[in-house]
Amino acid sequence: MRVLILSDIHANLEALEACLDAAPEYDQVYNLGDIVGYGANPNEVTTRSRELGSIFVRGNHDKACSGVSDLGDFNPIAGLAALWTREKLTQDHLQFLRELPHGPISPIENVQLVHGSPRDEDEYVLMASDAYAILQEAAVPLTFFGHTHVQRCLLLEDNGQGKSFPPDYKSPKGKQTARLEIKPKTTYMVNPGSVGQPRDGDPRAAFLVYDTDAALITFYRVPYNIQCAQEKIFAAGLPERLAIRLEEGH
Ligand code: ZN
Repeated sequence: MRVLILSDIHANLEALEACLDAAPEYDQVYNLGDIVGYGANPNEVTTRSRELGSIFVRGNHDKACSGVSDLGDFNPIAGLAALWTREKLTQDHLQFLRELPHGPISPIENVQLVHGSPRDEDEYVLMASDAYAILQEAAVPLTFFGHTHVQRCLLLEDNGQGKSFPPDYKSPKGKQTARLEIKPKTTYMVNPGSVGQPRDGDPRAAFLVYDTDAALITFYRVPYNIQCAQEKIFAAGLPERLAIRLEEGH
């Protein structure tokens, strides 16, 4: 089975469509949360996500935008965007977002999905040091996570060696892919990166494809029409910083 894994789309329709155009054929979609918040197309992106996917975990922005949580932990820009999004979303989409499940969930054997981490859905896991204890305690060998908007693999080998590395792309331009072979006796946390608001210095939209039979992960980076997404953010009256950061990839 080939699984398309998307995370942190953040209401960026241009980025989502570019990822879907670039993706190979797949059997299923796992969506790791933060469907909405920040971008200017929350309804369109929620509609598309619902059409695509049956397996979701909720993100902190899905909770805040649908009123499951308050805006206490949000910075002012994220808070403004969440309030704007809450106003825009249809009742049906608000209800869908409110009912998204809390991670971790395990859609297939040996795999779990979380937004932040298995021990806290809102935890940021960036470095090998953050991941070490989580990997040691992991209930399954392969955890897919989002939340940081950084495309990355964190792993713990049988000998206790921990590693953290980004995909090895040959070029920072155009559509790129990078492969990661899933080895036995190794525990992994893998982040597909953010579709709609990358923060790893690469503004291209990010996702991955997991081939369960081949035990192979393929990371993708895909250029998209950033200018169009930015113009929509300006036109919506959302904070300008949300548009500017798209071209910076931070
Ligand atoms: Zn996010």
